[in-house]
Amino acid sequence: MSNPGINNDNRINPFSADCEQCFGLCCAALPYAKSADFAMDKAGGTPCPNLQSDFRCGIHKDLRTKGFRGCTVYECFGAGQKVSQITYPGNDWRDHPALAQEMFEVFPIMQQLHEMQYYLNEALSLEETRPIHTDLRNVLEKTEELTRLNPRSVLELNVPAHRATVNDLLLQASERVRAKAAPKHNNNQKLQNKIRRGSDLIGANLRGADLRGANLRGALLIASDLRDSDMRVTDLIGADFRDADLSGADLRGSIFLTQAQVNSAKGDRNTKLPPSLRKPDHWSK
Ligand code: SF4
Repeated sequence: MSNPGINNDNRINPFSADCEQCFGLCCAALPYAKSADFAMDKAGGTPCPNLQSDFRCGIHKDLRTKGFRGCTVYECFGAGQKVSQITYPGNDWRDHPALAQEMFEVFPIMQQLHEMQYYLNEALSLEETRPIHTDLRNVLEKTEELTRLNPRSVLELNVPAHRATVNDLLLQASERVRAKAAPKHNNNQKLQNKIRRGSDLIGANLRGADLRGANLRGALLIASDLRDSDMRVTDLIGADFRDADLSGADLRGSIFLTQAQVNSAKGDRNTKLPPSLRKPDHWSK
């Protein structure tokens, strides 16, 4: 739901949402709890009241101001159009209500498979991973095969087992890339000790920190101050950047960063992003 029903920034990228080709699956299939990111409770399998009959969001332009900020940072990695146009070739859940429940269960599985493909493709694009390119390609092809299974077979997949295989390769890729930039030492030793995989860095003051070579996989960086920090050659897979301030930060050469992560953060015209990502409209100019 990066830009539900409207935005199609990158139609040729199969791992970016193409909402025009999707039946509003993220707005119907997924559950949301009332929070700062979503203004109401919504059960999974229940269409959001803002979803129009043409599968567009009725408040798309006002999502942030109306309390649906989370909708602007969700990324299906192209799973929405895959399920809508390939798995169920053009059969939407409104015209085919008997398919709805199954389609809603297939969608989150497809989202995970597409997310894995997104990261595997990035790993394959990195020069440092050349020694494991064959393994990466094989797992990428296998993952692509899984996305083309029929709905019943998708539902029977052992996704955690496949994800473990993918993660093992992504970790190897991460180590190869980060090896070229040994983690630097910041003045604050207590903080330095916390800069690692899965760290709780909520609200941390990391302004100007040299984070090159760090492994911040799954780190909680919510509302952290990352202004002017250096995150080149940093593994950022799954890091939670909600409301983190990336103003002036350098993220060029970081790995496994997604547009959804960038959208959830604050930043400015001095923030430097990898070339495949763009500055969100809400960042200060
Ligand atoms: S508010 Fe709009 S984008 Fe968010 S779930 Fe509802 S219809 Fe989808």
